[in-house]
Amino acid sequence: MKKFEYMEKHGYEQLVFFHDESTGLKGITCIHNTTLGPSLGGTRLWNYDDEEEATLDVLRLARGMTYKAACAGLNLGGGKSVLIGDPEKVKSEAYFRAFGRYVQTLGGRYITAPDVNTDVKAMKYINMETDHVVAIPEKSGNPSPATAWGAFHGIRASLKEKYGDNDISKYSYAVQGAGQTGDYLIGYLLEAGAEKIYFTEINEKHIEKINDKYPSVEFVKPESICELDVDVFAPCALGAVINDETVECLKAPIVAGTANNVLEDEEKHGQALKDKGILYAPDFVINAGGLINVSHELHPEGYNREKAFNEIESIHDRILDIYKVARDNDTHTQEAAKIFARNRIEEIGRIQSNTINR
Ligand code: NAD
Repeated sequence: MKKFEYMEKHGYEQLVFFHDESTGLKGITCIHNTTLGPSLGGTRLWNYDDEEEATLDVLRLARGMTYKAACAGLNLGGGKSVLIGDPEKVKSEAYFRAFGRYVQTLGGRYITAPDVNTDVKAMKYINMETDHVVAIPEKSGNPSPATAWGAFHGIRASLKEKYGDNDISKYSYAVQGAGQTGDYLIGYLLEAGAEKIYFTEINEKHIEKINDKYPSVEFVKPESICELDVDVFAPCALGAVINDETVECLKAPIVAGTANNVLEDEEKHGQALKDKGILYAPDFVINAGGLINVSHELHPEGYNREKAFNEIESIHDRILDIYKVARDNDTHTQEAAKIFARNRIEEIGRIQSNTINR
């Protein structure tokens, strides 16, 4: 790939390759945009086929983080790291500490966090070499309850937009995937008085877990979940669940859940949902609860769960702002979220043209 051409086209700041001989560490950090603040994004450990694949992944993921942080109202930019290797073979204290030392060389322009194949234990090792890391076990820990809390408020906002009121108890729900975030989301919906909730799963253990924990929640087969006549379809499993096939059979007037990359093709399926009158809560806005939560570790007074969860509730109003942008621009909501993010970055960038002392 022509890296500089790609970086210029999408406004990237920096792409850093690093290598440590003693541990076999090989990776790439991408800093997309730091207008709003230091870039933050997880570290993905993956056995990529080749460097091109890894480079494209880190570029794409870092840009997504810029949009996500901007829409969440955070003073953070977008960045990401990918480590190239077999997760079964490379993971060790020395490996993650070697990575932490490279993160430190970036001087705080990039803050790392967990992602696929890197967990809070890895963050602890990274933290032995750098302070530019979040999701430390003793601080904010597992992000899933926070992500689900944000999705819950995004669902409330979507009900308000569609029906004029956000009383969870009046409506019905279909939750796809009852892993970490889906489980918490079901719990929050029940606490708020929801009476009709369906769920689907492919993991027997998770089906049993939900049946035991929440007996009123009804299991349906994975292939039926999209066709249920409910008010909200909440994708909390895989990406690309809204595709040519599902967009046709989807009955729910609202799609709002925790999953990433819900639209197989953002432009095509974002527009298809709009054309069908289905309200879609953009994934990177509604699932930003985990990001907001870890960002509280960076506060000078330290992490405070109550404050973090209060801020996550702002996802309700942010989703409504984005629905308004979509209406004003006659566009689909995924595009509206990007317009919202770009506007915030541009506006804040403009006021930073003068020097101030704080
Ligand atoms: P998880 O792995 O704990 O749960 C996902 C569940 O979906 C699993 O139980 C799995 O068995 C189930 N599943 C997979 N395919 C399915 C199918 N076809 N039908 C029904 N169920 C299926 O993952 P999670 O942490 O809850 O994350 C869920 C989604 O939310 C992912 O897309 C993730 O990227 C996104 N997300 C999670 C967080 C977080 O804090 N955990 C933050 C942001 C985004």
